[in-house]
Amino acid sequence: MTSCGSGCSTAFPNPDRTVKVHHLVKAPENTESSVSFRESWDADEPATVYVTPERLPNGEECQAATVIFRTKGCVWWWKSGCTFCGYFNDVRDDVTSDNLHAQWEYAKRKTNDFEGCSMVKVYTSGTFFEDRENPLDWQETILTETHERGFHLIVEARAEMCTPDKMAWVAERHPGCTVAIGLEAYDDEVLKFHCNKGFSTRQWERAVKTLRENDLRVKTYLLFKPPFMSEGDALEHCVRWVADSAEASDEISINPMNIQKRTIVERMFRHREYRPPWLWSLVDLIRRVHPVINPNGTEAVTRLLVHPTAAGKIRGAHNCGNCDRRVAAAIERYSVSADLGEFEGLACECEARWRCECELDLALPIPLGCGLDRRGDVVAALLSP
Ligand code: SF4
Ligand SMILES: [Zn+2]
Repeated sequence: MTSCGSGCSTAFPNPDRTVKVHHLVKAPENTESSVSFRESWDADEPATVYVTPERLPNGEECQAATVIFRTKGCVWWWKSGCTFCGYFNDVRDDVTSDNLHAQWEYAKRKTNDFEGCSMVKVYTSGTFFEDRENPLDWQETILTETHERGFHLIVEARAEMCTPDKMAWVAERHPGCTVAIGLEAYDDEVLKFHCNKGFSTRQWERAVKTLRENDLRVKTYLLFKPPFMSEGDALEHCVRWVADSAEASDEISINPMNIQKRTIVERMFRHREYRPPWLWSLVDLIRRVHPVINPNGTEAVTRLLVHPTAAGKIRGAHNCGNCDRRVAAAIERYSVSADLGEFEGLACECEARWRCECELDLALPIPLGCGLDRRGDVVAALLSP
């Protein structure tokens, strides 16, 4: 412990410098080894390229190519960063326009020039049209080329970056494309204290208005079970967030938390203070919001997608280990069929335990929840160091 000069004691090593908490929390990620790990990536190759089945805005089934680029990364992350975001692991500080153009060519080679695809998702680990993150000429290449070739384009953005000028610029180059915003939670308290998102629900609402004025489509990501939240609370909150953001969104995609490397939520997970969500919670969530987004059997207010990344794994949404595959497959099927019948006949013994945990979470004042952080034998878990 050292003294900061004002009479109090502090654990910070340098008493002369103002040290923000996020400097301390992120220090390991800024070490030489961490930086050199990131710089070992080939800047001419994207992080990932793959093709999956999708649906076009008109509901038609199609093939979509997803390209995750290696960019300079999200400006918000370099300033502060969301508590669960590990995208910075895939970025390089020195990526140029030439590198990004080379990555685009690489993606085309990999997919045989997007053979059979009607949709392209361009993910940049940040905001696609943020000029400090991505060179303007490269943004223009992606927007105009995908438009000229008739692909539906999805890009990602932070809410405050969707300014009227920039959205008009985007809409001119690719009319009708989809802008996906990671709202995470329709709740300012959760945005601030659980996610450290750096924007508010009001800013998101303003962004949606701007996108609509420019005839662009709105996709909203919601995070299921942010850190510092119990399972029971996560379920109650997320049901509300879907209802509150449905009208404003063409699509809502629920992202159940998966633990990414070197993030704050990973620290909690390693300290056994956080368990990724149960797959049962996702099933319950879908059952509860289905009538909200399909009122009176009329046309759906929005399209609901739930894609649990790393489902069944200890770092992704999971159940007991026996039923995970079946339950995760039913959730994936629902995203395509929008039919609650997908969840019939899924019963497993662990469902009773999940239900009990959620009830206790809501009945007892335990902020991090009463559930065990790991699946498996309860006695063994209690005896483990
Ligand atoms: S989640 Fe999005 S906004 Fe947050 S730090 Fe990651 S890339 Fe940036
Ligand atoms: Zn089970």
